[in-house]
Amino acid sequence: MRREDFERLCRNWPFGRGHALAGAVLPLVRSHQAGRGGGKLPVIWIETCDSGDNNISFLNTAAPYVDQVFSGMIDLIYSNTFMAAQGADALALLQDALVRAGQGRRRYTLVVEGAIPLGGRGRYAVIAWTPSGPLTAYDAVRWLGKEAEYVVALGTCAAFGGPSAARPNPTESVGVGDVLDRTVINVSGCPVNPDWFVGTLAHLLLYGMPELDERGRPVLFYGSTVHRHCQRRSYFDQKVFAKRLGDRECMFSLGCAGPKTYADCPYRLWVDHVSWPVKANTPCIGCTNPDFPDGSTPFFAPLPEKAGQQGKAGQP
Ligand code: SF4
Repeated sequence: MRREDFERLCRNWPFGRGHALAGAVLPLVRSHQAGRGGGKLPVIWIETCDSGDNNISFLNTAAPYVDQVFSGMIDLIYSNTFMAAQGADALALLQDALVRAGQGRRRYTLVVEGAIPLGGRGRYAVIAWTPSGPLTAYDAVRWLGKEAEYVVALGTCAAFGGPSAARPNPTESVGVGDVLDRTVINVSGCPVNPDWFVGTLAHLLLYGMPELDERGRPVLFYGSTVHRHCQRRSYFDQKVFAKRLGDRECMFSLGCAGPKTYADCPYRLWVDHVSWPVKANTPCIGCTNPDFPDGSTPFFAPLPEKAGQQGKAGQP
């Protein structure tokens, strides 16, 4: 399958019948593994400062299902959430992966879920305790980021700091791109839609780096605003606005951040493609944005009245 066809399939899959994408992706992965000598995508997944929402959302993946991702798509070398190893055994997996990658034997994709605290010498997020002291999230990302083939920032905390970096940001948290001098693929969202993450992994495995927007997000999922495809757009165009939650009209008046938010939620939907915030009668809060959440608050104030400032490290 050509790369353009794969990207079209990812974009259009919510409109297809049944599990068309799963049916297409898994055979593609298998033929990739068999035909070109490629294996599964080696992944190191570390969790830093976040709420764990992204790995929970990932478990909702339906195209492919989560067991198919683990058994057929990725080789999960390390994940403090999903692996069985603990303590020194878990740390040894990281060290071994790094050595092998440094020798050019097997490069991995580093997935970082959560922001990186810089305050307190990084000790607000400790990945592991080693004989030489704590391994902070900052140290781990800098250490593992050097030899990774790709780096994926999973969720808005990892991509841009997100809620972990919201004002007053006492941990001085920042996004992964702020501590690595290399391209970081920002798969933002609070949480991330599982299609955005699994689709990005599939693209890396089959075709390499996807096209990214100016914020480092894969264009095939973040290429247009929520507002552009919203089912209530005709109300907005006619300037007919909701007065209270539950009204059927456009919720710009109730703080909807859809006009400035890039994501395909209106047609991809969530929870196995069932619903999304506006369909559930609540405004989009702009969770994929670089200035989320400070730029989205107060959540129910119209866009021009929101704070519109970022809570990055060092800002009041
Ligand atoms: S509800 Fe939000 S996304 Fe939908 S049309 Fe209104 S402002 Fe745009």
